[in-house]
Amino acid sequence: MQRLRHGLTLTLLLAASAQADDRSTAPRPILLDSHLDTPMHLARPGWDITARHRYADDLSQVDLPRMREGGLDGGFWAIFTPQGPRTDEGRTLASEHGLAVLTRIRDMVASHPNDFELALCANDARRIAAAGKRVVLISMENAEPLAADPGRLLTYQRLGLRMLGLVHAANNSFADSATALPEWHGLSAAGRALVGEANRLGIVLDVSHASDATFDQVLALSRAPVIASHSGSRVVAASPRNLDDARLRRLAAQGGLVAINSFASDLITRRPNPMRDKALGPLYRQFRNAAALSPAQVAELAGRIRAAQALYPQQPVTFEDFINHVLHVLAVVGPQHVGIGADWDGGGGVEGMDDVSQLPRIRQRLLAAGYSETDVADIYGGNLLRLVEAVQRSAAAQDRPSGCAH
Ligand SMILES: [Zn+2]
Repeated sequence: MQRLRHGLTLTLLLAASAQADDRSTAPRPILLDSHLDTPMHLARPGWDITARHRYADDLSQVDLPRMREGGLDGGFWAIFTPQGPRTDEGRTLASEHGLAVLTRIRDMVASHPNDFELALCANDARRIAAAGKRVVLISMENAEPLAADPGRLLTYQRLGLRMLGLVHAANNSFADSATALPEWHGLSAAGRALVGEANRLGIVLDVSHASDATFDQVLALSRAPVIASHSGSRVVAASPRNLDDARLRRLAAQGGLVAINSFASDLITRRPNPMRDKALGPLYRQFRNAAALSPAQVAELAGRIRAAQALYPQQPVTFEDFINHVLHVLAVVGPQHVGIGADWDGGGGVEGMDDVSQLPRIRQRLLAAGYSETDVADIYGGNLLRLVEAVQRSAAAQDRPSGCAH
């Protein structure tokens, strides 16, 4: 009996260790973030994506060494354009800015062919990640570079654009923003045409930053599923940037995806702090133009931002606040419709999420909350890649990106 019990224990132990081995040898899930603002840093003189940086020194959160450390395989690298005046001159500047950032992203890939590769479809991304290189998908945040000539969307698509965020913090020619007063009451006529063109070209439509009316109209018009590439839950924090449960459900019901944002002021509802806003507003505007600054000027700006934050303190925002959004949205739409879009290099300021090297905490926290490794793989990148596939499949046959097997 004693021997039998020992034998049984041994069998159980062996089975358990075999299971553990299975888990350790299981392929690591692909981790893709659907909104990287890193191209802003690429423009800075002397800033090297292959060198290790510190957020405290230069406000950057993504580079090759930290991506490797955090297991970040890549994601959508955003062509972000700050909204300028809607004049002929403003539209020309936005147009030039968009093409300059697109070129910068493509140059990064061309300069480091062993480390980065442009992905034009989901299978490209899987192959590139399996080869140990970083996946570069290209997105646009704010469609203003297309305002002078919306037909240029085709040029962008041919050069790799695979996701289009219509609007940013202010209204533009195409749509109303979540953080501005209604102007078009959703999409303009040009905005509606752009939705159709994105569908035709197999470009994923992104409703982050869109007003509720814009969101509703994009969902009603789009023939393909839609993403919110970096958004949160309005139940958890009452920011107009966040989505209420009914809209989360409708997005998911159409096969869409909500990738969870970590922009500090959208994660919790804080008491107003006008002195802090007044001090930090101009500094953040300078930061968005960091391309025009020398490394010494960026370091000095980072110091001034830290000093203003210390002078006008506010309630801290933590990794757990980010997780609250993840868990709430998971409870509402389920693990097949959630992704990671933490807005790295778009703001920061969340304790415990200084940079992408801390990403493994998300997996640990999801497992602790009872989600499976399969769920984690879906949330980390599986859902995003299936969305890209679905949008490309639904595109007009002659405009479907070529060279990618589905
Ligand atoms: Zn954004």
